[in-house]
This record gives sequence, structure tokens and C-alpha cells, in this order.
Amino acid sequence: MTEPLALRDLDAIGVDRIKGVGDKKLASLHEVGIHTVLDLLTTYPRRWVDRTNEARVSDLLPGQEALVLVSVRSVAKRMMRNRRTMVNVVVGDGSGRLQVVFFNQPWREKQLREGLQVALFGKAEVYRGGLQMTNPVVDLIGDRTGRIVPVYPQSEKAALMTWEIAGWVEDALRKCSPRGIADPVPESTRRRFGLIGRGAAFQSIHNPETIAEKEQARRRLAFDELMRVQTALVMRKRLLERESKAIRHTTGGELTARLYAALPYELTAAQRRVIAEIEKDLAGPHPMHRLLQGDVGSGKTLVAVSAMLTAVQGGHQGALMAPTEVLAEQHVAAVRQMLHGVTVPAHNLFGDRPLRVELLTNRVTGNERRDVLAGLADGSVDIAIGTHALIQEGVRFHSLGVVVIDEQHRFGVEQRAALRSKGDDDAVPDVLVMTATPIPRTAAMTVYGDLDVSVLDEMPPGRTPIVTKWADGPLMEQGAWATVREEVAEGRQAYVVCPLIDESEKLEVASAQETFDRLAAGELKGLRLGLLHGRLRSAEKESVMDKFRRAQLDVLVATTVIEVGVDVPNATVMVILDADRFGIAQLHQLRGRVGRGRHASTCWLVTTESPDGNPRVEALVASTDGFELAEVDLELRGEGTIMNTAQKGRNDLKLASLRRDRELVSLARDAAFEIVDADPLLENHPVLLDELRLLFSSEDEEFLFKS
Ligand code: ADP
Ligand code: MG
Repeated sequence: MTEPLALRDLDAIGVDRIKGVGDKKLASLHEVGIHTVLDLLTTYPRRWVDRTNEARVSDLLPGQEALVLVSVRSVAKRMMRNRRTMVNVVVGDGSGRLQVVFFNQPWREKQLREGLQVALFGKAEVYRGGLQMTNPVVDLIGDRTGRIVPVYPQSEKAALMTWEIAGWVEDALRKCSPRGIADPVPESTRRRFGLIGRGAAFQSIHNPETIAEKEQARRRLAFDELMRVQTALVMRKRLLERESKAIRHTTGGELTARLYAALPYELTAAQRRVIAEIEKDLAGPHPMHRLLQGDVGSGKTLVAVSAMLTAVQGGHQGALMAPTEVLAEQHVAAVRQMLHGVTVPAHNLFGDRPLRVELLTNRVTGNERRDVLAGLADGSVDIAIGTHALIQEGVRFHSLGVVVIDEQHRFGVEQRAALRSKGDDDAVPDVLVMTATPIPRTAAMTVYGDLDVSVLDEMPPGRTPIVTKWADGPLMEQGAWATVREEVAEGRQAYVVCPLIDESEKLEVASAQETFDRLAAGELKGLRLGLLHGRLRSAEKESVMDKFRRAQLDVLVATTVIEVGVDVPNATVMVILDADRFGIAQLHQLRGRVGRGRHASTCWLVTTESPDGNPRVEALVASTDGFELAEVDLELRGEGTIMNTAQKGRNDLKLASLRRDRELVSLARDAAFEIVDADPLLENHPVLLDELRLLFSSEDEEFLFKS
């Protein structure tokens, strides 16, 4: 066999074949999930120590950062008065000795045993006549030589030392070198994208000559990770397009024109653009599969209605699916109002007929339900709005043409699939997914990579931006209640959002009740307060919401049940208690409940005193732009959380970062389209296909395993 080694080959060789891995070390490796040579080679260094910057202890200058390679002479731990620990270490390198202190890192005592070789990076200062480093960066590199030394994630528990891993990796690379490692990216593409070969990349990420070389290696290997994800997504997208027949809708008909003419406002440029993008899909031969991202209040409902009307125009039906009953009910009200007076052109003797919009949730029962179901089946209901009840067994549509799904993140893939199967005979309905939780473009390409993406990036005119204030502690909190009282005196209304309690709805309700009682007797005494939470019966909820809508209540004290969709333009203040318990996206959603009318609005974020600041709350105060906040969120949380919402099997990203590697994500997506469009089943890309089959599961990417 002289073929270069494929990843599958590397995955077939156990780590027991590596020099120096005995039974004990083998068990340790297994414990941290390293079973094969592939696992070992993709255990990448956490850091690289650049020894070209190395200094001798005798050359250290006070106040300057430096790297020293030293051995440990002695270690002592003591407790200080404030219960903090201090570990004192003496190190030396033959040219001199150095004192090192670690505050509050008690585990250093065990880590830094006498005689151990360590690399320390830090600033030496004069202390009591000698030089001392405080809390330096410590890397255990053993007696590894070379100018750049890789530092691996080591495991104290499994007793794996970074230099052991380095040695095994070196042996593995040596064993691979006669045959080389297969490269799925053709030379010409590599040259165009400025990527080094894969074999060289594995070599250089583990044993770079220079830091620049390590960077090139990282770029190449990160590209591979991203390209695999993108190729799978693009294949899936193209497959869906090939395999399903779509209704070719007629766009630009009379119905949508009537809708626009009846609106009391002009469409924003963004709405026009997005509607055009959608209409192009609707008219096309493939079913639409599009994500619409638009900040709270950007006017997504109108876009959704326009898409559904296009279906109705051609004699089909539209469906809008919301995540909760409250939201579905609200949508029905909004859509009916928007379509008030718009009639369906009948082109026959009977003239136009009124448009029929119906609600279907589990709360619609009895005769009413039978009536709606019959209307869906015979086509007399034009637009159905509901919850997942719309896709239940027994719901039949005459001809479902366009499906709009509101708030994607609460909807599973299976539910989407079920709706698609409600289509006319063999045609698949066009699907538009809407989300008010924008995620950055590159992340969207990865998480929703099998969807096309449209963005409503413009707010309707005439909004006064919401002013957000941070009440940091009880004193500041008084300012929030003062704002509420002032606004209510002006005839406005307010929301108070109660602390989020993750573990238990019961506790959350209790705390909401407590907040309500406290405010009613104290800060907001004399105002008309209502309480809304998840444990109220539907009828009670409805009656509270109704009173608030009709301004019979001044203040609505609520849990996060009001998170999405509640629309009361007269509400101009929101006070969010324990705001630091919420995530950025959720705070932004909540805040979007105010600022919906012509009056200026304020949002108060209340936290306990936080002397160290609070980056999330600060971000909300600084910006009202959902996309900007999404970037901050990604920055603060890392991509882990975003990737978790993606289907399994896609979190193969060990090196690539959706944050740092934006340019690479786009390149990888371009490359994937290029490859798949030229070779849809990857028949001419056997190495790549084999890697996808190896690294993705058949459950998630079933199509990879056909043929
Ligand atoms: P979203 O669902 O994106 O949060 P909505 O569709 O509920 O936003 O729209 C928010 C508000 O903006 C609604 O009151 C709607 O009537 C209004 N609106 C939508 N489009 C426009 C526009 N082009 N000009 C003025 N107001 C608009
Ligand atoms: Mg909406």
C-alpha cells in the first residue's frame, strides 16, 4: 500500500501502536477520549511556547515580560489571613534563582514538583532585594527541545503530561510520513485559497519552526473542519431542491397589491428587498427554504403575510405557525387587521369574496374546530394561523402553498418536516422561517447552512430609540420605579419582568407573586397592577392581557411569558429585575416589548451591585441593534451555545472558530458550492466523501450514506 493515508486509515490504527504507550498510558488516553492515531493527531496544542524569546534568569530585567525555562527547586504553600492561599516557588536555570508567587492557586503546590522543568512567562519585579514573578503563565514542557514547543491540554487526573503527548504525536507523524496524509482539497483550489497541504499542516501545527508556520497550519486545518460542515450542508440543500417538486407560484398578483395599497404606511426598502427575494423563490421550480432574520419590530409580519397572500392568489393556502397559543392569537388579530377589507379577486360572476383567516390551536374546540378543519380541507380557509396544532394528525389542507414558521429556535426539525408533508399531492410547500434572534452571518451559514438567508436590516421610520438604563443596586433601582410612576402619570403603561428562575416554574411564580405584592404595597402603591405568569389558566391570562391592552391596568408584572410578540404600543417603560440572570438575546427580546408606539421608551435593567461590571448588561445599554448584540453575545459566550442548537454531528470544530474565522467560513462555503455543484454526489471526490462518512453520523446526514 502506497496510497496516502486517509483519515479513515488513521482512525483504524489504535494508539497502542505508538512508541511509549504502554497499558497504563493507554488507559489514560482512552480516559480522555483518545483511541486512535486520528484522535491523537487532532488533539491540537492549546498553546505554543516560543523559545526564541527565551531569557536566562540572570538576564531578567525588572518590569519586562520574559520567558524563562527553569527547573523547580522548592515549593511551599501557606494560608494568608484573608483565607487566600499563597504558593511560593523557587526556580532556577543555572544562571540564577528566581522567586515565584501564586496567589489563590492552591493547586500549584501539587502541580510544581521539585525537579520539574517549566516554562514561565511573566513580568519580574524587584521584591525585597531580589527578583520575583507573580502569577506567571506556567507551561510544563518537560525537556522538549525545539524553538517552538507545543503545549497540549494535559490531564492531571488521567496522568497525561503535555510532553508525553508531544512525544507520541511526533512518533505518529514519523510513522505517517512514508505514505503521507491524503488531501481532499485539490492543488489548484489550495493555491487559489492560499492553503498549505494537509500533511504539512499536521506537521506544522504540532511542530512548527516559527509561529507564522503554526498559523498557516491552523488556517488549513480549520478550513478542513469548516469545509466538511459546509459540504454536508450544501449537499443536503441541493438534494432537497432536486428531490422535491414545488408549486410555481405566480407573483406580483392583485392580492398583494391590494394589501400594500391598504396599508397606512409605505414598505421599508428592506421589506421590499426581502419580499422580492422571497417571490423569486416562490416562482422558482424548487421549494423555498429560507430564513428571515429581522430584529424585533423590523416588520416581519408584513413580509409573512405577503408571502402567504402570494399562495392564496394562485388558489393555494398559507399557514403561519407560532410557538405559543398567546402568540398565535396575537398573530390572528394582527393579520386580520392588516387584511381588513382586502378581498380575493374571484374572476367570476360572483365577484370578489372576503379573505378568510382562521385560528387553530388546542384552545379552538367543538363546533368551531370542526368548522375550521372543514375549511382547511375544502380550501375555504385561505390563511391558517396556529401552533403545532396545525401539523397534528387529522389536519388536512386543500392545498398548502406557503408555510411561515415564527421563531425558529423553538421549533424542532421534525416539526418542520411534518408541516412540509401537509402539502398538495406531491408538491412540497414553500417554507419561510422567521427569527427575531439574529445571529451573525458566518454563524448563520453554519447553523442554518441548508437555508437561504434574508435579513430585514432596517427599522420602519418614526421610532424613537429605546433608552436603556442600568440600575446597579437598590439606590439606582429607585430611579426605575420613579420612571414608572412618571410615565403612568402621563397615561403610559409599564412592564415589570420578574427574576428568571431556571429550575422551577413553581418558584418563579412564587417570586412573581412576591414581587407583585411588594410593589403593590410599596414603590408602585396606588397604581393599577396586573400579574401574569405561566401557571394562570388560559382564560385568566387572556383577561389580564386584555385589561392591559385596553389600558385598564397601568403596570403588568410578569414572568418571561411576555417574551415574544406581546404588542401594546402605549407601554413605554420596562423594568427587568435581576437582569444579569438573562442572556443578551433574551434581554433584547424583552426590551422589544416597549418602543412600539410614538412615545419615547425606557428600559431599566436592575441588578445587584456589581463592582466588576457586567458585560452583558453594558452591551444592552450601549446598543439597540440586534445584530451588533448578537456579535457581542457570540464574543462573550463562544460558539458552543450556538452550535448546540445546530443538529448533532456538526460540532466537529476543534480549531475553527465561527468568531475568529469568518473569512474561512465564507471560503469554505464557496468551496463547498463549487465542489457540490460540479459533482453533486462527490463521485469524483472520494477522499472528501469518505471523510464525511467517517465524521458525520448516518442519522444526521443520511444522504451521505446512500449509494
Ligand atoms: P416584528 O414581527 O418583526 O417584530 P412586526 O411585524 O410586529 O415586527 O411590526 C412591528 C410594528 O411595525 C407593527 O406595529 C407594524 O404595523 C409596524 N410596521 C411594519 N412595517 C412597517 C412600515 N414599513 N412602516 C411603518 N410601520 C411598519
Ligand atoms: Mg413578530
